Amino acid sequence: MNHDNTPIAAIATPPGRGGIGVVRASGKDLGSLMQALCGKPLQPRHATYLPFLAADGTAIDQGLAIYFKAPHSYTGEDVLELHGHGGPVVMQMLLGRCLEAGADIGLRLAEPGEFTQRAFLNDKLDLAQAEAVADLIEASTEAAAKSASASLSGVFSRAIHTLVDKVIHLRMLVEATLDFPEEEIDFLEKSDARGQLERIQADLEQVFSEASQGALLREGLNVVLAGQPNVGKSSLLNALAGAEVAIVTPIAGTTRDKVTETIQVEGIPLNIIDTAGIRDAGDEVERIGIERTWGEVLKADVIVHLLDASRGPTRADEEIVQRFPANVPVLRVWNKIDLSGHKPAVDRAEEAIHIYLSATERRGVDMLRAELLRAAGWQQTAESRFIARERHLLALKAAREHLALAAQHASVDNQTSDQALDLFAEELRIAQERLSSITGEFTPDDLLGVIFSRFCIGK
Ligand code: GDP
Repeated sequence: MNHDNTPIAAIATPPGRGGIGVVRASGKDLGSLMQALCGKPLQPRHATYLPFLAADGTAIDQGLAIYFKAPHSYTGEDVLELHGHGGPVVMQMLLGRCLEAGADIGLRLAEPGEFTQRAFLNDKLDLAQAEAVADLIEASTEAAAKSASASLSGVFSRAIHTLVDKVIHLRMLVEATLDFPEEEIDFLEKSDARGQLERIQADLEQVFSEASQGALLREGLNVVLAGQPNVGKSSLLNALAGAEVAIVTPIAGTTRDKVTETIQVEGIPLNIIDTAGIRDAGDEVERIGIERTWGEVLKADVIVHLLDASRGPTRADEEIVQRFPANVPVLRVWNKIDLSGHKPAVDRAEEAIHIYLSATERRGVDMLRAELLRAAGWQQTAESRFIARERHLLALKAAREHLALAAQHASVDNQTSDQALDLFAEELRIAQERLSSITGEFTPDDLLGVIFSRFCIGK
């Protein structure tokens, strides 16, 4: 990746007003910037209270300045942090002054994620850790925040490195044997290569299962809530959210005409897409909105079709059911059992799972929670030690496939084939490369660009 080490600066704290606001600069040599803003050299890693100086020597603000000398900083470069008062105008003035004073060293505004990108390029963080920084900032549940923090401290990366080390060890054995063809036949027996490979495969499954749980914590589960007016959709949302606060979040890339609400169930974010707008289209604009909503339904992880148990299905319900995509599981939830006289229950019928509950009396709601988590593949007993992303799961799946191919080449039937060991070695090499892409050793530049551009400015 293009390693641009022009000095950069940005406001590191969120926009708006707050007690403290931080302007941060990073670059190869920030001595002149420090002199201009702080009036003197600072002792590294010590907080100094001083006036931040304008060009004419007057004070823009008073606050703490901290200087981190390379390589002992977040980015691995010299870093200067100015902690002033958190007002938008003060912060802009301070940033403007930095850019002015830093003009002679080429100081420019930082791109989104550029501080963290430099930390990655300077080996302060690997890629999975850098992603965890963004995940920690964006975490919408406590469980997600805890797992992101664990990933940031390297728990996930260490699990990947352990796997990679084992693959490398096995590769070394194979490569050594390839140099002595007469020993090839015995190699697989003597070195217990098959046993080693099996253990690596088992370890990978363990990491994959933990990463899947971690990815669920990050991405959440997309639930479509369908049902006619007055069947109790809002009441059900409240009942599901329980004591926990319902957070209304606009999800990136979605349109305003769709209501998405995120609630937590055991720390898993459930992104609930309300299909209230799915009924009749009034005009063209509405029709487009409705089509978009259907697009979301196709991507849902699970559909909750809410019905009134005291009334039974209506014709409008039948029409909606017709449009449900065949590959998305449907939970048919019969609400208002307090009126219909049903008991709270789960009924696993062939075409769908039926759940009987009362949203307002909060009976049977736990059963729905459990079914939603089950549909998401959440294992309550499994502990999620780290956060993960779809990108990581794809890499793990690819590694899993290549290990399986390696196992085929090492199978007893193949043992006498001349090429078997070569192919075995080659599959191990690819598996290793896929695993290493998680921590960023083999990651194309354009992908890195995409990952870091999704960060906020100043991070
Ligand atoms: P929505 O239009 O689908 O969002 O439905 P609401 O949640 O606004 O509920 C419509 C009406 O049904 C309200 O008067 C609720 O109090 C009532 N309701 C919802 N759930 C239940 C339930 O489990 N039992 C009874 N008896 N009434 C319910």
